[in-house]
Amino acid sequence: MIDPSEDDLGRDRIGYSETMSPMALYDASHGAWHLGERAHRENFALVTFDSTGVLAIRIDRIEPVSGMVEGRESSRRSVIHGAILTTGHPIHDAYVGKPSPIPPQRNPVGYYDAPEEHAPCQCGCGGQTPTGKDFITGHDQTALHDRVRQLGTVRDFIEWFDRVRGGYWPDINVIFEPVTLVDGTPTGESARLRHRLDCTHLYTDDSGRILNKPRIATREEIVSLRPCKSCIANSAKAATAR
Ligand SMILES: [Zn+2]
Ligand SMILES: [Zn+2]
Repeated sequence: MIDPSEDDLGRDRIGYSETMSPMALYDASHGAWHLGERAHRENFALVTFDSTGVLAIRIDRIEPVSGMVEGRESSRRSVIHGAILTTGHPIHDAYVGKPSPIPPQRNPVGYYDAPEEHAPCQCGCGGQTPTGKDFITGHDQTALHDRVRQLGTVRDFIEWFDRVRGGYWPDINVIFEPVTLVDGTPTGESARLRHRLDCTHLYTDDSGRILNKPRIATREEIVSLRPCKSCIANSAKAATAR
């Protein structure tokens, strides 16, 4: 127990016990700390007790106590605001309930470059990019233009793309659910083509109810499914009408 008037955040309880809920642990541990400049570049915080990770937080922002709590204008401590990570998140799974990656030290705040925060850059350069990003900044452009150059000019690339893909049809981005046309029962099969909403493959029953409900195609479907022939014709017509 602590005196709320002593604590920068006015709490009556800080510290750790094994029975604390993640939320109670978050309240007790997210501040207030002396945080250096580096803290502002960090993505995650790990709360440890007895050299074991007990709570992982995805940092949303770091807020100085001085601008946040009345009467604490002279405080030089800061509070970490963020989301509590749970099972299934790579940082949680690697560090909560596991030995702290930082050896025991005097300073209560330490920094660690976690391999789980990085992923290989998809350009193949061997570099590392923050988890969730496919490329180091700029490497996506380089990777793309390397591929264009391998085929020749941009024009060569476009001709190749259109040949492989049956054209460039960004407006053919709808999937009609495969159904039996008697009553609209889904067949359970996956769709084979992409369409536009004005396609004649959109079927209605006598009362005008749509049988094969359309939905926007996923990124995966945009890549893997061919555009329907009559939709290509409709798309070309729409393009000349513009
Ligand atoms: Zn790269
Ligand atoms: Zn179609």
